[in-house]
Amino acid sequence: MDSPVPDHCPDESVPQPIRADGAGAADSGPRDVARDRQNPDLLVPPITDRGRVPNLKFSFSDTHMQLRHGGWSRQVSVRELPIATTLAGVNMALTPGGVRELHWHREAEWAFMILGRARITAVDQFGQNFIADVGIGDLWYFPPGIPHAIQGLEDGCEFLLVFDNGSFSDLDTFSITDWFAHTPRDVLAENFGVPESAFEKIPPEERYIFQAEVPGPLRTQRVADPYGTVPQSFTHRLLAQEPIISPGGTVRIVDSTNFPVSTRIAAALVEVEPGGMREMHWHPNNDEWQYYLSGEARMTAFAAEGTARTFDYRAGDVGYVPFGFGHYIQNTGPQTVWFLEMFASNRYADVSLNQWMALTPREMIQETLHVGPELLNALRKEKWQVVKSEAITPP
Ligand code: MN
Ligand code: MN
Repeated sequence: MDSPVPDHCPDESVPQPIRADGAGAADSGPRDVARDRQNPDLLVPPITDRGRVPNLKFSFSDTHMQLRHGGWSRQVSVRELPIATTLAGVNMALTPGGVRELHWHREAEWAFMILGRARITAVDQFGQNFIADVGIGDLWYFPPGIPHAIQGLEDGCEFLLVFDNGSFSDLDTFSITDWFAHTPRDVLAENFGVPESAFEKIPPEERYIFQAEVPGPLRTQRVADPYGTVPQSFTHRLLAQEPIISPGGTVRIVDSTNFPVSTRIAAALVEVEPGGMREMHWHPNNDEWQYYLSGEARMTAFAAEGTARTFDYRAGDVGYVPFGFGHYIQNTGPQTVWFLEMFASNRYADVSLNQWMALTPREMIQETLHVGPELLNALRKEKWQVVKSEAITPP
């Protein structure tokens, strides 16, 4: 009888689940070597990992793609990453002229523009409108229940949407075509004061994403509003913001203090140079939802009770850190790592391990950790969000 497992050819370049001290054994059975290569810290976890820390990673590449004429979307929610209860994310692309149709939802929507340009349109409960174009590195924020639409401009666009509810689904929003399709025609006629014949050609169901003509310049689409435009801008130029610079990279923090309308989602755009590391820290306010824009990184989440687990991330992955868990993000590749940290909060906050120790009596640190002047003299009272140590930089 033939074996269901094909003979394998030993290949020195295939990573094996064997630690440097010899623990483990070769995996000669069925395996996905491409995934093992992408997850070296799952295949051979650091010896400091221990216990049942839940999964903190999901790749958008493992999600279902909604393909429509006009664009695509895919999402990571509690259905994909069960621990991620506070926020859900949607990655969407629109063709030139492609439209994410007029809709609203109960969640706040926070967005980061990854590629290209888009026009966004919204109207608030006071009848004040907002129409603007956004480009790479720009954000938008729509408060819960505020209706809006997005349209790709000349080169199309790709963006990340984040919602303050892990159970959110972008396929279950309140859409204008869906409402029209499910309202009696005589009610539509009465509501708008026109004959029923005016609705003969309305779409029979929700459109979600569809192809339209590329719109003209913004000035040609301005809609004069007797009530004026919204008092707080729904957009913010995050990449254009002056970053906090530290030796291993940069951080741009955005929350309701500098983007006032964004009262339910706070974020940081972090750049970690090759050889750099987002320092050991935690957040005192809420869970962290991460999106990796470029590069390769690893993170260990320290979950107390002697437990910790290490994950590897790359562009297109989502990471998650439960409230209070200690963590770092180390650049493990040759490229710069750019990632977003997002929180269901009105403010961004982090606590630095290094700064905490530097601002604590020396004797307390010394007697607790059994460390000497070498470490105590190196502690920093100033926060460096991204560190870079020459001593540990690989050649
Ligand atoms: Mn929306
Ligand atoms: Mn963090």
